[in-house]
Amino acid sequence: MADIYHIIYNPYANRGGSAHYLDAFCTLLDAKNTAYKVYETARRGHATEITRDIIALADGTKYIVIMGGDGTVHEVVNGYRQGDNVVFGILPAGTGNDVASMLKVPVGLENVEAAAANILEKNIRQVDFIAAEHGMQSVLFFSYGIAAAMILEMAKYKKKSKISYYRALLKNIFSFEAGEYDVTADGGDTRRYKVDFCAVHNCIHAGGGMHLISEAVMDDGFAELFIVENRGHFRRILNFISILSKKVHLQPNAQIIKVKNVTITPVTNNLCCVDGENHYIDQLKLSVRHRGISVFHKTPNA
Ligand SMILES: [Mg+2]
Repeated sequence: MADIYHIIYNPYANRGGSAHYLDAFCTLLDAKNTAYKVYETARRGHATEITRDIIALADGTKYIVIMGGDGTVHEVVNGYRQGDNVVFGILPAGTGNDVASMLKVPVGLENVEAAAANILEKNIRQVDFIAAEHGMQSVLFFSYGIAAAMILEMAKYKKKSKISYYRALLKNIFSFEAGEYDVTADGGDTRRYKVDFCAVHNCIHAGGGMHLISEAVMDDGFAELFIVENRGHFRRILNFISILSKKVHLQPNAQIIKVKNVTITPVTNNLCCVDGENHYIDQLKLSVRHRGISVFHKTPNA
């Protein structure tokens, strides 16, 4: 069978604006006489099911193009198991496009052709992902603490805008109660931290473009354990300001540790944000799967 692109398309991404991206991409494929099939997601978790169905098709490498934001990417990655014969491409069409930015895929409707270049030329490389023992997988982060609380707060608002984001931020700066977490990094001693934030990242940006971890590399075999200890409201405000100048890692209550394996056990607050979606997780046993997933990217692995 000739190569075919399986396009997993989230019609709700970018408040429906993703339809324009789909049109633009399909026009490119038509012009090149390239075969494709579009799968539209209809509900939460649907992209995971679609991904499994595509992977289960007859032999050969599957080319899956994700057309949505970070939420759609997260669902698709959770339909994948290491070793499946599949290459993923991303055409960023969502509100949060942190995965695309990590892969240096240009964002914006005017850039669809540039964003599609590596997909059409089939430039492939392998990147890392983070796997949790309970089965969940992430290409961005697992995050306990204030980020998860903000997502929870935002979910209460009917209209989502910059203003509601700042409203949730302000509310959490003053009312978020720091949680306690037992953390074991790479088989070392277990330490208990009282934190505003305790996360494992494999990305520079999170939360729709917030610059958090400059040294994150997507295929270095390590994730970054990022701990921001609680030091009261004033320190919390300074920490948020430091994100704007990309210096949160330099704050006196912040530390970043490169890890391959890490266990985080919440003592007081088990709400965990995974790639932007909230879940209640009593214990996270995470391991980095080095170059465990293939993506369309212009630079091959060294
Ligand atoms: Mg890394």
